[in-house]
Amino acid sequence: MSIIQPGVLYIVATPIGNLDDITLRARDILSEVDAIAAEDTRHSRSLLNHLGINTPLFAVHDHNEEQKSQSIIERLQRGESIALISDAGTPLISDPGYRLVRAAHQAGQQVCPIPGASAMVTALSVCGLATDRFCFEGFLSAKSGTRRDQLKKLTDESRTLIFYESSHRVVATLIDMVEIFGREREATLARELTKKFETIKQSTLSDLQEFVAGDANQQKGEFVLLIAGEKAEQVGTLDSESRRIVELLGNELPVKQASKLAAEITGRKKRELYQHLLGREK
Ligand code: SAM
Repeated sequence: MSIIQPGVLYIVATPIGNLDDITLRARDILSEVDAIAAEDTRHSRSLLNHLGINTPLFAVHDHNEEQKSQSIIERLQRGESIALISDAGTPLISDPGYRLVRAAHQAGQQVCPIPGASAMVTALSVCGLATDRFCFEGFLSAKSGTRRDQLKKLTDESRTLIFYESSHRVVATLIDMVEIFGREREATLARELTKKFETIKQSTLSDLQEFVAGDANQQKGEFVLLIAGEKAEQVGTLDSESRRIVELLGNELPVKQASKLAAEITGRKKRELYQHLLGREK
């Protein structure tokens, strides 16, 4: 019995390096759908050859997704089943597919996930930093000024931060990160995950920056950079927005009243806001 249903758009994760990291379900779906929409058909053909699959492929990438979405929806409406894959990992995660999935929902077509590898979750699972709350930032800007502004907005973030980075920019990005988050902030470099030259290293940002800058081999391949969130108890200060609010109130009101109000507004503990104002007055 076929596992494929007519009119369904399957979003299928593929490996991020090691080709054995394909799921049994992904393999079956890719063998049985009417067609596979792939970011780069030549790249995906070698994966399909490895799996012994000869389903027809066609290209859907950032530049034609809008236009292709309509014809894919029409094919789904005629009862065809289509799978979307990207070059590696989970489609839509820093990869094309968002417009297509949205269009399928709007047209009332079923969208079915076939989960598997994604570099961000793979890196998170081995990073040794907090994993209970995290924040995926994808790729930073290629422009240095914009990238630094993006990083500055994240200095108070308490969740673990996850970035994708390419070999061209990893050294420059690490230099910016050291400057903006500080030399001692904990971080993890996850390079070439699941591949032959995999590197997973947890240390301080300055150590990681020196490690990568000092070894040309460590500048090659694909990277996930993870940075520990700012811990209030570690730095003994509040995030900048809570500071701003309590200080503004503190300029107008007695310390006790200002911290009570600020606690209501920010959700922070009254005691820490109170202590911040007392510290300011010293
Ligand atoms: N859709 C993919 C996913 O689910 O992870 C991500 C696609 S994005 C265009 C490619 C980026 O993902 C790379 O530049 C790198 O930052 C990260 N990446 C992909 N494979 C990786 C690997 N094996 N090791 C480390 N990072 C990887």
